[in-house]
Amino acid sequence: MIDAGTEVCALLGDPVEHTLSPFIHNSLAEYEKVNSVYTAFRVNRGDTGTVLKGAYAMGIRGFNVTVPHKEDVIAYLSDIDRNASEIGAVNTLCLSGGGYKGYNTDAAGFIRELRECGFDIRGEEVIMIGAGGAANAVLNALYSLGAGGVYILNRSVKKAEEKFGSDKRNKILSLSDHGKIEGEGYFCVQCTSVGLYPDNERAPIEDESFFKKINRAVDIIYNPSETAFMKRVKRNGGRAVNGLDMLLFQAVESFKLFHAKDVSEESIDLVRKKLKERVYKGS
Ligand code: NDP
Repeated sequence: MIDAGTEVCALLGDPVEHTLSPFIHNSLAEYEKVNSVYTAFRVNRGDTGTVLKGAYAMGIRGFNVTVPHKEDVIAYLSDIDRNASEIGAVNTLCLSGGGYKGYNTDAAGFIRELRECGFDIRGEEVIMIGAGGAANAVLNALYSLGAGGVYILNRSVKKAEEKFGSDKRNKILSLSDHGKIEGEGYFCVQCTSVGLYPDNERAPIEDESFFKKINRAVDIIYNPSETAFMKRVKRNGGRAVNGLDMLLFQAVESFKLFHAKDVSEESIDLVRKKLKERVYKGS
């Protein structure tokens, strides 16, 4: 029951109408018996400084931040975790002395998803499609997991070069240049928004010859449950999973930071089951 001792957490973003974060965090709080409530606020670009000042004065426990605030909000933090600083984006803010400390749990969410799938990429050259906001954390995670190098395929090569070109381990190509990647047996992560509901039939690369090179893949999109990208990987004999576990595990990591407590595997399994029912009901 909500009472005077209930801690408040929230998502800051624009838009926030379809977010699953309140569902995940409130379910975790219920199973973990934490007296907290989680909601979502639509915040205009440029207003995060004002929001955080007021929130700090009221002792709001923590925030998740999403598009378009993940980078801009850094200017208003009292401290930033080293990994978030390397990634250049935060998705979690925790009340700490003098303001909010920023973290990035997207990378940890992706790492945990790969571990759950048993996808081991140590020493391998891997492929990442996309160079948007989510790609920052995914790329950081790929190297944390021991990738030897990353082919980055993006619609805008210039943008990908500007963001990731200074690291010589990255090889940047346009989407149509995928034929330059030689060999097979690659792990590939799909980080563009192409194929997101209701655009279910599209993949960022449609050429079947590309998919013959992939034997393991993650599409970080989680709606639909099987994207057109995943279908292509599977029909060419590969394994492919969607991004729902990444979403769940980034939230679990944020929850741990907000409430300075661990989360049991039993609670995670219960929330995962409820989340799947909610996202894929009727599909
Ligand atoms: P951004 O808007 O920052 O980036 C979008 C990416 O998609 C860019 O690489 C962009 O290319 C590419 N793109 C967009 N439209 C096209 C198109 N028509 N053809 C080819 N490429 C295109 O989005 P995010 O990085 O924040 O998110 C990307 C996806 O990841 C979303 O679908 C989101 O739902 C999902 N996501 C999932 C998470 C999870 O926990 N599972 C977490 C975060 C995001 P260009 O650079 O050329 O514009």
